[in-house]
Amino acid sequence: NSPLGARGHQNSKTAFKQACEVIPGGVNSPVRAFKSVGGQPVLIKKASGSRITDIDDNEYIDFIGSWGPMILGHAYPPIVEAIQQAAVLGTSYGAPTLLETEMAELIVSMMPSVEMVRMVNSGTEATMSAIRLARGVTGRSKILKFAGCYHGHGDSFLIKAGSGALTLGLPDSPGVTESTARDTLTANYNDLESVEKLFAQYANEIAAVIVEPVAANMGVVLPKNGFLEGLRKLTEDNGALLIFDEVITGFRLAPGGAQEYFGVMPDITTMGKIIGGGLPVGAYGGKKEIMLQLAPAGPIYQAGTLSGNPLAMAAGIVMLKTLKENSDIYSKLARHAEMLENGLKEGLDKAGIKGVVNRVGSLLTLFFTENDSVESFEDVMTSDKDRYAKFFRLSLEAGIYMAPSQFEAVFISNAHTDEDILATIAAAQEAMKQL
Ligand code: PMP
Repeated sequence: NSPLGARGHQNSKTAFKQACEVIPGGVNSPVRAFKSVGGQPVLIKKASGSRITDIDDNEYIDFIGSWGPMILGHAYPPIVEAIQQAAVLGTSYGAPTLLETEMAELIVSMMPSVEMVRMVNSGTEATMSAIRLARGVTGRSKILKFAGCYHGHGDSFLIKAGSGALTLGLPDSPGVTESTARDTLTANYNDLESVEKLFAQYANEIAAVIVEPVAANMGVVLPKNGFLEGLRKLTEDNGALLIFDEVITGFRLAPGGAQEYFGVMPDITTMGKIIGGGLPVGAYGGKKEIMLQLAPAGPIYQAGTLSGNPLAMAAGIVMLKTLKENSDIYSKLARHAEMLENGLKEGLDKAGIKGVVNRVGSLLTLFFTENDSVESFEDVMTSDKDRYAKFFRLSLEAGIYMAPSQFEAVFISNAHTDEDILATIAAAQEAMKQL
């Protein structure tokens, strides 16, 4: 009873082979290749609302949402219109525009700790720039990150990294120099003692602690009560800056991201994904006195030919305004995510399989683990990746497009309907019976 047509994945199979001839691994970002779940990726032709269609005309309910940006669903008409209107006025000028100020004002009005913001072109660029800023401001070299957290592919972050690096078993990538690696310290998520130890060992050397306020790149792991508050205090006590990487959580957990949701304020915030409405955008912002250290206001250099791109700004402005003016969206997202959470848990029970579903707002992960809870990187690593792979393939065949990795999140969008969620629960429960 697969919803896939008679052709199955024939076109995708042929096209992927062709792609592999000219693109390393056939993809422009590793997790897309389905390597850890087996089989071959499907190539996408189009998407609309909660649905995504491959080049064999199979339609799926999409729970990746481009890994987060599509919180309003695919091809959201007002965003498409804004991009079309902007495009005919020219696609890039390399000179300032009104759109950039409007975008910055919106971000500042939504993100509680952000007083000034600089636009860049990806989440990676945001985090790389943020740590240069932190190093420049503090005059210190070392960065403290957490095992299993992902902050893009900047050299400093590919130490015990999450996301694709973790999925492919490449948490410490070749090509990162020893001296860079030496300046990256890693602590354990949800373990303040491990952070305290590093501050004691490297007194006056740590420029910043960077953290995903909700870890979402080793699967979703929530911060324990007091963890973020503890990081705030430890950084303050030790003269280091606190960076929240809100590339996933920003504008998703609340209009003001995780900092609003948990009420803990970082010094610098990195953003991406949702702020671009699906166009390539990132941003970093923070307190005025810190941001004014950036060139040309200050001495710390960072630049970009396409930064503040008018198409991206036009899309992002509509996205952020929509989220700001319709905060009821967040309760709908959470309601659908909770429905799915409960349906998955019920499926595990019915199938007699152990597992844990972690969820906050519209982000969730189903871990196939014998553990009773998943609160740390260590807990995450107890997951049965082969079982997840099977679950993923069965779901895909049933028309449900989840992340092709145990270590990623399910992203709910405002386009998902009750029917989408119910169909997904039914398919997931059926798949669980076959595991
Ligand atoms: N930070 C976090 C928390 C992310 O999830 C990601 C990407 N998944 C990045 C940074 C990097 O963003 P990008 O892929 O846009 O470079």
